[in-house]
Amino acid sequence: MEFDLIEAIRARMNVARGDVALGIGDDAALLDVPAGRQLVACTDTLVAGVHFPDHAAPEDIGWKALAVNLSDLAAMGAEPAWALIALTLPDADARFVERFADGFAALAGQHNVALVGGDTTQGPLSITVTALGFVPHNAALARAGAGVGDTVFVTGTLGDAAAAFQVRGLGPGTGDPKKRHTELLARLDRPEPRLGAGLALRGLANACIDVSDGLLADLGHVCAASGVGAELNADALPLSSALTANFDAEACRQFALAGGDDYELCFTVPSVRETEVVEKLARTGCRATRIGRIAAGSGVRVLDSRGSEIATPRRGWEHFVP
Ligand code: ADP
Ligand code: MG
Repeated sequence: MEFDLIEAIRARMNVARGDVALGIGDDAALLDVPAGRQLVACTDTLVAGVHFPDHAAPEDIGWKALAVNLSDLAAMGAEPAWALIALTLPDADARFVERFADGFAALAGQHNVALVGGDTTQGPLSITVTALGFVPHNAALARAGAGVGDTVFVTGTLGDAAAAFQVRGLGPGTGDPKKRHTELLARLDRPEPRLGAGLALRGLANACIDVSDGLLADLGHVCAASGVGAELNADALPLSSALTANFDAEACRQFALAGGDDYELCFTVPSVRETEVVEKLARTGCRATRIGRIAAGSGVRVLDSRGSEIATPRRGWEHFVP
C-alpha cells in the first residue's frame, strides 16, 4: 500500500533534471551539486489543524507544502533544484495523495524542482518538505548584514493571507469584484514564492528574510541578527485592493504588520541603491516598496505620517505561545 502511494506521487512529477544521478526508489538520492556552488537546504512542516484546515483541498496542501520551502530558498537568494517529502497520513487515501501530488507538481514544474525522495508513514496528517538549491559561493542572502541607514523594502503586498484567514468560511464575498474574497483566499492557499526576486537581490541586498510569521516578527529577526533597529512608515505598507476593499484602514494595517503567511521578501539595501532595486525587481515582474529604514539600536518601531510611534501589541505568529 505504502509503495502504491509512493508510486502515485512519483508518477505525477513532471520535472526531470540531469543533476539527479539517482532519484526515488533507492535508500537515498544521489545528487550532483554544480562546481563552485553552495548547497542551500531548508525544511518546513505543515500540520493539519495548525497550518491548514482539516478540510483544505489536497492540491492546495501540496502546493503550499512546497511553496513555504521555496520561499525560504528565495530569501537566501538560492536557485531551487530538488525536494523531498515526508508524508504522514491517517490512512492510505489514494485520492488524497494523488491530488496532493498534483498540487505539489504544479508548483515544482513552475520552478524546475525535481522530487528526489521522501518517506511515507501512518499517523495524524502532517507534511514535511525539504528543499535544496544552490547559490554561488558567498553570494547567499542572510538575515545578518543590515546596516544603519539601509532602506527597508518588501515585495508584493502584505496582509492578504491573514485577511483570508479571517474571511475563510464567509464564502466568496459580495458581487462587487473588488469585494470578492477569491484573491485573498488565493494568497493564503497558493502562495507564490519570490524566487525571481531572491535571485535578483544577490549582490544587492544587505539582508533578507521571507515574511512567514508577520512583518514585525520577521523584520525583528533581521534586526536581531544584524544588531540594529528599524523604523517602519505605517502609511507606506503595500496593500492590495482586494484587502482595502474588504477591511478598514486599521484592520489592514494590523494584517500587514502582524499577519502571517505572506511569503513576500523583506530586505534591506544601501539607500543609494534604492532606484536600482525597484527597477531590477520590476524587470522580474515583482513590485518592491520602500517601507522604512534601518536605525541604530534594536527592535522594530512603527511610525505614523507625523513620525509618532504606533503601538503594536500583536507582533506575529509563534508556536508554543499559550
Ligand atoms: P527506506 O525504507 O529505505 O527508507 P522507503 O520505503 O521509505 O525506503 O522509500 C522508498 C523510496 O521511495 C525511497 O527512495 C524514498 O526516498 C522514496 N519515498 C518514500 N516516500 C516518499 C514520498 N512521500 N515522496 C517521495 N518519495 C518517497
Ligand atoms: Mg523511509
